[in-house]
Amino acid sequence: MRQSHLFTKTRKESPKDEISQNAQLLIRGGYIHKEMAGAYDLLPLGLRVFEKIKQIIREEMNALGGQEVSFTALQDPELWKETNRWKGEAVDEVWFKTELNGGTQVGLGFTHEEPMTRVMKNHISSYRDLPRYTYQFQTKFRNELRAKSGIMRGREFLMKDFYSFNRSDAELEVFYEEAGAAYLNVFRRVGIGDFTYLTFASGGVFSKFSHEFQCVSTAGEDTIYIDTDKRIAVNYEVMSDDILRDLGISKEALVEAKAIEVGNIFKLGTRFSEPLGLTFKDEDGVDKPVVMGSYGIGIGRLMGTIVEVLCDEKGIVWPESVAPFTIHLVELSQGDEKIRAYADKLYEDLTVAGIEVLYDDRDMRAGEKFADSDLLGIPHRVVVGKTTTDSAIEVVRRKNGNKGVVTREKLLAGIYHA
Ligand code: ATP
Ligand code: MG
Repeated sequence: MRQSHLFTKTRKESPKDEISQNAQLLIRGGYIHKEMAGAYDLLPLGLRVFEKIKQIIREEMNALGGQEVSFTALQDPELWKETNRWKGEAVDEVWFKTELNGGTQVGLGFTHEEPMTRVMKNHISSYRDLPRYTYQFQTKFRNELRAKSGIMRGREFLMKDFYSFNRSDAELEVFYEEAGAAYLNVFRRVGIGDFTYLTFASGGVFSKFSHEFQCVSTAGEDTIYIDTDKRIAVNYEVMSDDILRDLGISKEALVEAKAIEVGNIFKLGTRFSEPLGLTFKDEDGVDKPVVMGSYGIGIGRLMGTIVEVLCDEKGIVWPESVAPFTIHLVELSQGDEKIRAYADKLYEDLTVAGIEVLYDDRDMRAGEKFADSDLLGIPHRVVVGKTTTDSAIEVVRRKNGNKGVVTREKLLAGIYHA
């Protein structure tokens, strides 16, 4: 894409009403726009990153056997009354409720266990229909008390929510382990694997623990205790001597850190299948409730975390896997038609070679172009200027500033560094 065509512009100053680093950088780069606290629009560059993150998650969820669906945000109160989640202490603060013309109440979903369970009643009746796994990328609404963490805590936000339907606790247990491994794959693939820990957190009626995936960051709202050798952590909320003993963790080995919850997996047991009547006939013809689990990742939460954890004083640093473009081609022709023609041709040839290029073809000073390039955080900056020849094209790596020179041939083959 030609940067001269991109409608978004970068800005030097951080927006005054934004205290979180992720939103400041993303707004300055033109990735997102803030509508109000907890509500952000995705602009072209932001949408590209979002879609890449979604695709990585989609691949991992498909590998688990997940079938993608897309449910409505509008929720029927009658359904939620059956599970005691329409009114009450735990949910009153969270729900956005509204009404139809005429006064009928509806809710805007903050999660989807209820509708997902109800739909499955039409499709699951026998042990032969199980196991089943569903997931979606769907907009959730939560009336969050504080929304000061930029795109990491939205009042409207996209969640990947995955639901498992199994025949027994033992079957769920096996799947739950696989899901945890898939989550670690996701966080590794988006570039935060080294900082992200499987974390023991509070469970529910059906399990002692749930598991969070906590990414160490000073921007985090949670406190965790990490056993760096075992690469696991315990959330402050459940920390106790008893629990450490249960987990075989010694207190001395633990390191305290602030962390961002990027994902959460949860054994639900029959918490929803029982009240909603999702049952199956087992091999002996006996009716049993389906054993469920749920598994969430916030896409904006994850994108904001990547920004927080990998950025530097110059701006965003995207890992290649989620970057909006792979190459930032910056031409420094300063009116020299020959250099301009060389850069134009290189842009076309890279694009034909299937490489994603943002081409800074704007008529601006080199310093401004480089500052924008650093802010945008595209992994490889290719510079075309006076000294550029087919045998020597300068490439700068965003993450460490390392400069190298490659041939045109290598560049077109996707080899950016000698
Ligand atoms: P938190 O403790 O941070 O409020 P939660 O425990 O309420 O989150 P879950 O209900 O477990 O969150 O949601 C699953 C995932 O959805 C979380 O792990 C997180 O990645 C994401 N998520 C939750 N709330 C938000 C939000 N307000 N904005 C963006 N992502 C969110
Ligand atoms: Mg949680």
